[in-house]
Amino acid sequence: MNAIPTLFVSHGSPLLALEDGPARRFLGELGKQLPRPSAILAVSAHWQDRRPTVSFADQPETIHDFGGFPDALYQLHYPVPGAPALAEETANLLEKAGFEVGHNLSRGLDHGAWAPLRLMYPAGEIPVTQLALLHGAGPREHYELGAALRPLHAQGVLIVGSGSMTHNLYRLMGNDGAESAPRWVSEFAEWIAARLRTGDIEALLDYRRQAPHAADNHPTEEHLLPLFVALGAAGEDAIARRLHASYTYGVLAMDAYAFDGSDEETVV
Ligand code: ZN
Repeated sequence: MNAIPTLFVSHGSPLLALEDGPARRFLGELGKQLPRPSAILAVSAHWQDRRPTVSFADQPETIHDFGGFPDALYQLHYPVPGAPALAEETANLLEKAGFEVGHNLSRGLDHGAWAPLRLMYPAGEIPVTQLALLHGAGPREHYELGAALRPLHAQGVLIVGSGSMTHNLYRLMGNDGAESAPRWVSEFAEWIAARLRTGDIEALLDYRRQAPHAADNHPTEEHLLPLFVALGAAGEDAIARRLHASYTYGVLAMDAYAFDGSDEETVV
């Protein structure tokens, strides 16, 4: 079997689950193009904890963790099997790497996890669990968190970081703006793309100081941090492939990346 990459996907607005658009169509094709994973470990912007925490839920519920959206969005569910065995293995790997790990027995899937996964794997047959981001920690700690998980993806586990390449909700333009974005948004997304292309990990981990308009695009960091987990999990010599780039609402860059370990065959 071809080796499976790690992924970073942008989930944008919760309306991704309902409304057609380039990013939604891309996600709808992505699952078919990847080798079939044995299980999925999702790392979403919408779950943070004081320590890395994994969910041991047998049947994770679909969490509608948003307000003020159409009723139809609250009717959507993504019933999938949980992945307690993967949760256990994740916890063990993190403990071995020196992290103190939290165990959550019931936590379901937030929309950062289920909205893209429901498009990628609509049949819901692949077991899924989630790992929380570390509250208050930055890119380097999340890269190291990912690095500790590297053995998982070699076993056919799909590690999916789900956030948004840019995410300033105060500057939403209130329209689709799908084809264009202001320069302060596109310059940031292209800066990240260029550093990923050349594998400049140190610059990426220092994006907050080095990237143009970093704080404007990420007033808080949680929507970019899953990128560093996915990158770390692919290993030091990971090769990044930009799978998708589009914009929604003018200011949300919907970039998606796959990261392959350099010693592995590539797919997609
Ligand atoms: Zn989000």
